[in-house]
Amino acid sequence: GGRSSAELIAVEEAKLAHNYHPLPVVVARAQGAHVEDVEGRRYLDLLAGYSALNFGHGNPVLLEAAHRQLDRVTLTSRAFHNDRLAGFAESLADLTGLDTTLPMNTGAEAVESAVKIARKWAYEVKGVAPGQAEIIVAAGNFHGRTTTIVSFSDDPTARTGFGPFTPGFTTVPYNDLAAIEAAIGENTAAVLIEPIQGEAGVLIPDDGYLAGVRELTRRTGTLFIADEIQSGLGRTGTTLAVQHESVLPDLLLLGKALGGGIVPVSAVVGRADVMGVLRPGEHGSTFGGNPLAAAVGSAVVGLLETGEYQQRAKELGEVLDARLAALVGRGVVAYRARGLWAGVDIDPAFGTGREISERMMAAGVLVKDTHGSTIRVAPPLCIEEEDLLHALGVLEGVLAG
Ligand code: PLP
Repeated sequence: GGRSSAELIAVEEAKLAHNYHPLPVVVARAQGAHVEDVEGRRYLDLLAGYSALNFGHGNPVLLEAAHRQLDRVTLTSRAFHNDRLAGFAESLADLTGLDTTLPMNTGAEAVESAVKIARKWAYEVKGVAPGQAEIIVAAGNFHGRTTTIVSFSDDPTARTGFGPFTPGFTTVPYNDLAAIEAAIGENTAAVLIEPIQGEAGVLIPDDGYLAGVRELTRRTGTLFIADEIQSGLGRTGTTLAVQHESVLPDLLLLGKALGGGIVPVSAVVGRADVMGVLRPGEHGSTFGGNPLAAAVGSAVVGLLETGEYQQRAKELGEVLDARLAALVGRGVVAYRARGLWAGVDIDPAFGTGREISERMMAAGVLVKDTHGSTIRVAPPLCIEEEDLLHALGVLEGVLAG
């Protein structure tokens, strides 16, 4: 212990794979929306672990659930049952309105699992010829980093050098119902989309898009898979982003905040008849559904059942929206916001997203750029209004020079 931020960063440079380019802050502790670095400097966290920390750092309810479970049993594997998993699955069914849960760990695993389930369903139920199943995805998507998932990414940085790729995916423009309709054929197993594209810069589709995807997929006997790994669990002011259009997908992908920022927890939650295509031995995970994950995940669902976090996201979202609107033309070219989540396009004349992020860091606010000149604002939903206003004031100050 006792090493400085600069020393720790130098060791990371030497000893870690360089697949990230973090801001030069070394976090040592955190509470709520506040983090503190090795030297004791305090920052406001406007990233919230890419929305894995919707309920804040060190949320006392989630920590208590974790602590209690740590002392009882943490891992059984699915070779045996554990006494936390049943309740977790029941709570997810109550929360989402879908029947059946497949517990996994990371978001990418939930996406991979859904791809497998959709393909198997296409062969066994829809009658697609062996090896011919297609899944329709949207341009600009981000669903994770595995070989199959980067196979249907169109981001050169995510793909280049990682082929050969998994076939069976068709890309259509995002927010374009006619393109989906034209792409659906007899071999189409599913349409997989993010209800709001997070990594692409918080792109919000037109009203009616999600309901339209639902209608199209229902009419053509195609599965609708909604990846709510980033958009779900309170962030947009509702439990799920699809609820803005009162839509229920066939398969729902959850992750990130489902583990409360404590443990990796993800899930595919879906229609019983679709999930039923998986039989013993055909899919699994050593850690998926472990009792610690299930205890924390159940506590997360408990926090969402009160509606309090959704309400906060909605109310603070109005504050965020109003403050960002006032910055348009003053360093901000455009922004998109829903709930406590915004993508803010910075005028390149004022600096790159990275440069703005570094200047904000120096002023005690942590944000992260995405796609060059866009920064993302997604604080923990428990952030105090005055802290949010302060952080947005720092953005304003940085843009004003
Ligand atoms: N899907 C979406 C919409 C995401 O935003 C992410 C992560 O950013 C993932 C999937 C992948 O999740 P993970 O990083 O846990 O594999």
